[in-house]
Amino acid sequence: MMGNQPILLLKEDTERERGKDAQKNNIAAAKAIADAVRSTLGPKGMDKMLVDNLGDVVITNDGATILDEIDIEHPAAKMAVEMAESQDDECGDGTTTVVVLAGEFLKLAENLIEQNVHPSVIAKGFRLASQKSRDILEENKIDIDIDDEEKLKEIGMTAMTGKAIEGDRERLAELAVEAVRHVAEDENGEYTVDIDNVKVEKKAGAGVDKTELINGLLLDKERVHANMPSEIEDAKIALLNSALEIKETEVDAEIEITDPDQLEQFVNKEEESIKEMVEKVKDAGANVLLCQKGIDDLAQHYLAKEGIFAIRRVKKSDMKKLAKATGGNVVTNLNDLSEEDLGKAESVSEKMIGDSQMTFVEDGEKGKAVSLLLRGGTDHVVDELERAVHDALKVVGIAIEDKAILPGGGAVEIELRNRLKEYAGKIKGREQLAIEAFADALDVMPRTLAENAGIDGIDVLMELNNAHEEEGLKNHGIEIVSGEVSDMTEVKVIEPLRVKSQAIEAATEVANMILRIDDVIASKGGGEEGGGPPAGGPGGPGGMPGGMGGGMPPGM
Ligand code: ADP
Ligand code: MG
Repeated sequence: MMGNQPILLLKEDTERERGKDAQKNNIAAAKAIADAVRSTLGPKGMDKMLVDNLGDVVITNDGATILDEIDIEHPAAKMAVEMAESQDDECGDGTTTVVVLAGEFLKLAENLIEQNVHPSVIAKGFRLASQKSRDILEENKIDIDIDDEEKLKEIGMTAMTGKAIEGDRERLAELAVEAVRHVAEDENGEYTVDIDNVKVEKKAGAGVDKTELINGLLLDKERVHANMPSEIEDAKIALLNSALEIKETEVDAEIEITDPDQLEQFVNKEEESIKEMVEKVKDAGANVLLCQKGIDDLAQHYLAKEGIFAIRRVKKSDMKKLAKATGGNVVTNLNDLSEEDLGKAESVSEKMIGDSQMTFVEDGEKGKAVSLLLRGGTDHVVDELERAVHDALKVVGIAIEDKAILPGGGAVEIELRNRLKEYAGKIKGREQLAIEAFADALDVMPRTLAENAGIDGIDVLMELNNAHEEEGLKNHGIEIVSGEVSDMTEVKVIEPLRVKSQAIEAATEVANMILRIDDVIASKGGGEEGGGPPAGGPGGPGGMPGGMGGGMPPGM
């Protein structure tokens, strides 16, 4: 016999939202995130000025950066941001697209929910649509290969539109293509590109046109001693990841010194062992020492005496790149250092860049690494250049790996929408409605691109429909700078296939994750400082944990 006692599963102060309320609230949060970034989409997207709690300012229109910088508390919104971040990791581009698409998918899903279509049916339809999209994109791809330098440059330029200073986009794209082609590894015509082999260094204080590509590695370090040569040709490089210092004795040994001779002996002994260390570097045949740890003053002196160029505290990640580029081995124990471990490069030299000295390791024997030295007037400029170049390097790499691109400017979204609508017709059941909604949601891309440029979105959609449906012009999209509907391959707005297919997949995943949640149980314990605002998420009754309400100014 069961009693009438209610069974308590949750602590008393746990907040819980169920069914449609939970859904509504989560959808609202994801849409709010989409609204926050949609105005940055495309070449005419606006910039955002982000100010952190220390007053530092970042000005950007890079979706990934914006999402990274704003503090988001709502759990559903967080999921959208995480998905965008993974898009950034994998593709370096398309982050805004993920969030904008996810927001639109959810917006149209909401209509269906109101018509009593069950969220899991919608999620299923979305999944079908996303899978079908893959095939359709594949059918629409344009082939490309690593020698298509012009096309690769256009891909880089498309990824940078609206980010880099307009006049410099072409040059930056050229450098990015050169860099990526240089590090691409060929295996029977199949390429892999590890963008980490392109080292990006930035230095404010000169025009963007002074940006250069260095065939080798650039280290933001100077040699440790002024008496060292500032340039070594035919460099033989020792890569050491331990310090060139006398280790402090581990135990507190007390050394009793009773007369001055003894002191001298002791000091001499230390000097002796430092000298020996330098001797070992020299005996191995090295004329350059790149050390990941410290180099003692005395060691610096002896190294200089031997005419060895040395820098200390090289970053671990750089040590790896150096080893790869010069064919050397990073050695931990100086006793193990031998001639075979030395890396080789045509030259190692120190040059003045802006107001600081930098070390150039050029033409390493294995030569895969290159460096891009970004110059710009101010730190804000070089920072934004870095973000733009990061996107360009990634997309060019992806295009080389996959050998497949798509037209941008909403062209592919319109084609996709039309093909998905045909597909929806073949699907029985209510999933059909979801596939149609998914297809309609894709309009958000050309519409937003247009609207962000002050062009009427509806007009553009009509023109695009006309071109695609009536005239079969599959590559027609909206070129935003001229404001004209035209062939995107002719106006050079092209993107890697992978960026688009991943973005659609990621957006679908966000939408579906959110749709499937019908119960949000939030434990409140664990003392929120100041209690936090009793934030009701937009539209949602009952306070959800830190709704978007307090987090972001409206219309950001
Ligand atoms: P994301 O973070 O998603 O990459 P962006 O702000 O970089 O967002 O915008 C990407 C979109 O802008 C893509 O759909 C791309 O096709 C489009 N785009 C880029 N350049 C142009 C252009 N000149 N005309 C029209 N669309 C463009
Ligand atoms: Mg982009």
